[in-house]
Amino acid sequence: MAGNRTFTMIKPDAVRNGHIGAILAKINEAGFRIVAMKFTKLSQEKAGEFYEVHKERPFYGELVDFMSSGPIVAAALEKDNAVEDFRKLIGATNPSEAAEGTIRALYATSIGENAVHGADSDENAEREIAFHFSRYEQF
Ligand code: UDP
Ligand code: MG
Repeated sequence: MAGNRTFTMIKPDAVRNGHIGAILAKINEAGFRIVAMKFTKLSQEKAGEFYEVHKERPFYGELVDFMSSGPIVAAALEKDNAVEDFRKLIGATNPSEAAEGTIRALYATSIGENAVHGADSDENAEREIAFHFSRYEQF
């Protein structure tokens, strides 16, 4: 059975471009409940650790530089079928391929600077929530 939690980050490009409010509104309108949230900034080291699965990919260095380039909003979200439904709400990694009305179609600027992160499995959602929040910070 699919889990009911996912993890997201509003990435530095979207924060810089003033889209935090609009993106949170889309998330709420789509029926997700925010169960933990913080405005924070990742060090290079923390960004590298978060994206460790992509270490061998050619874009890893650029991704780590970008994700540590400014503040982000990290949040844990709840909804039935959360992981899959949230991936649908954000759209494809490359905004030029993202379906109309998705968060990336609306707010991403490039395949790298693509406005939001969404966990890709229940297992990774739990790992990513634990990476950013202690149990005490989750409601
Ligand atoms: N990324 C990039 N170049 C690429 C593919 C991905 O810079 O060719 C970045 C982009 O920010 C993406 C992140 O690396 O969101 C993680 O990649 P993944 O394939 O997991 O995409 P996602 O799950 O975020 O859609
Ligand atoms: Mg991914």
